[in-house]
Amino acid sequence: MKKIIANFKMNFTPSMTKEYLIQLLARYADSDKVKLCLSFPYTSLAIAKFLLDKRKISLGAQNICDEEEGKNTGEINGAMLKDAGVNYVIIGHSERRKKFKEDNKSINHKIKIALKNGLSVILCVGESLADYNTLKTFDVLTEQLEAALKGLYENELENITIAYEPIWAIGTGITPTAAEIDKACKTIRNVIKEDFSQKASENIEIVYGGSVNTKNISKFKNLKYSNGFLVGGACLDLGAFLQIISTIEK
Ligand code: PEP
Repeated sequence: MKKIIANFKMNFTPSMTKEYLIQLLARYADSDKVKLCLSFPYTSLAIAKFLLDKRKISLGAQNICDEEEGKNTGEINGAMLKDAGVNYVIIGHSERRKKFKEDNKSINHKIKIALKNGLSVILCVGESLADYNTLKTFDVLTEQLEAALKGLYENELENITIAYEPIWAIGTGITPTAAEIDKACKTIRNVIKEDFSQKASENIEIVYGGSVNTKNISKFKNLKYSNGFLVGGACLDLGAFLQIISTIEK
């Protein structure tokens, strides 16, 4: 079964989310071939939870506070997400690492807090264009993974999906080749093997994200070392998103 994670980013008011989901639920039948996870802005979580009831679609958030308590005006903690019916949370997206200065230590705290509150984690890792051009992808992935997963027990990896998202591919329309994605996913599995075990490296779920669209999905759908996709911009157009899903299902 392939995992398809949609990241709606800062798009859709609650009313727009309602319209989108009514259409999606009418046109998409739950399937054994894909596992759909939809991650909305905080303000759309309540309506999404209501509409997704009794469907086999997971609900995701796009961020979580790196503290459980305290004077964190504007933040949302793990207990709040859990009680809102959220199943998983995206952590370490490159937009948050860059714009909101999230460092590996904060990302590590966020992961621990999410897991403690019964939320699954989508951990985003990926290199910049400069790193890619200077052949540092391996080093960057290793550093990000080791820092983010520090202090975790092997069994906790069952609730973590790694999203390999090269920063230069996000929202640009440019992607690595299928072979490059596979190489990066293999690197991620090797880091997990070194730091945890062979079994953990085989079982960890890895998805690819970065400009996945209707035109390139068929060349990526049979990647050897990855288990699915994280779709950003393309999920905003329901027709395009459904086409991506059906290509993966075939
Ligand atoms: C993302 O934001 O994680 C992403 C993959 O975006 P896009 O598909 O638009 O590149």
